[in-house]
Amino acid sequence: MEDVIKCPHCAEVIKQEATMCRFCQRGLSLTHFKKCGFCKEMVRIKATYCRFCSHDLSEPPPKHGPFNGAPVPRSPSGGPALKTEVALPLPQPQGELEMPKPRRLKRPEEE
Ligand SMILES: [Zn+2]
Ligand SMILES: [Zn+2]
Repeated sequence: MEDVIKCPHCAEVIKQEATMCRFCQRGLSLTHFKKCGFCKEMVRIKATYCRFCSHDLSEPPPKHGPFNGAPVPRSPSGGPALKTEVALPLPQPQGELEMPKPRRLKRPEEE
């Protein structure tokens, strides 16, 4: 004996594991079907349009205005970017010990 349920749409008796009512062709399983956001009918989960109300279901969510992105930072003079460090401070075996200071990530006067 098969487990049967009543279709919530047309009240016909259908198999419990049915994903679609064979009488009214409406979807029953939310793993295979989704509710149309316009007419509340069950449509296939991969449907790109509602077959009941023909609304487009694949349109992307609306965006609020165009987004041009953040401006690209440029050097103030317009020339090549200033380099604070030409090379990595390597240990000098001899000679003057003039180690360049590491870059300061945060300047206190900018606070
Ligand atoms: Zn049905
Ligand atoms: Zn619809």
